[in-house]
Amino acid sequence: MKAHTKETQATMTPEKAITFLKEGNERFQANLKANRNLLEQVNDTKDGQFPFATILSCIDSRVSAELVFDQGLGDIFSVRIAGNFINQDILGSMEFACKLAGTKTIVVLGHTSCGAVKGACDHARMGNLTALINKIEPAVFAVKEPKEEEMRNSKNLEFVDAVSKKNVELALENIRSQSVILKDMEEKGEIKIVGAMYDISDGSVTFY
Ligand SMILES: [Zn+2]
Repeated sequence: MKAHTKETQATMTPEKAITFLKEGNERFQANLKANRNLLEQVNDTKDGQFPFATILSCIDSRVSAELVFDQGLGDIFSVRIAGNFINQDILGSMEFACKLAGTKTIVVLGHTSCGAVKGACDHARMGNLTALINKIEPAVFAVKEPKEEEMRNSKNLEFVDAVSKKNVELALENIRSQSVILKDMEEKGEIKIVGAMYDISDGSVTFY
């Protein structure tokens, strides 16, 4: 598989970009890899990059977007932060990726058993981590079930994963409400903004 070029990027649509990612994750789950020579791709991309997707995911060592979607060099912009939430710098990166560099989709990829989300569920406080946890806590408060306080912590994995999903939904809302550029591109059909969840137990990605 060759690295994407100006020509292949030009024929890419938002729908096709999502299909490419779904197919890549199917290969990953089947332990298959597209035949690509990464060193050759270094050479292919030395004069420019034409990636088709922008993926915001967690720093979790098990959730590398390139690996779980079986992508090579020059294929995706990968934004990573613990808890895959939105801030101004990340929005700026996404605006660059879509408006200036031409990617056709933004995927916010949460994952099961997320440590950052667990920290938010437990309202953990520690150094600079406190500020990060604060940005995930709105998702904790937005999940209404279960009501019993003793069930609303990281020991309850079902609750943790429900908060992860809500956290992705809030990130999608924040992209649309805080970036006029990206909202406008989505409304014109130039990009799609979608959420997805990676299951750390089987390698599958479920798109919402
Ligand atoms: Zn995580």
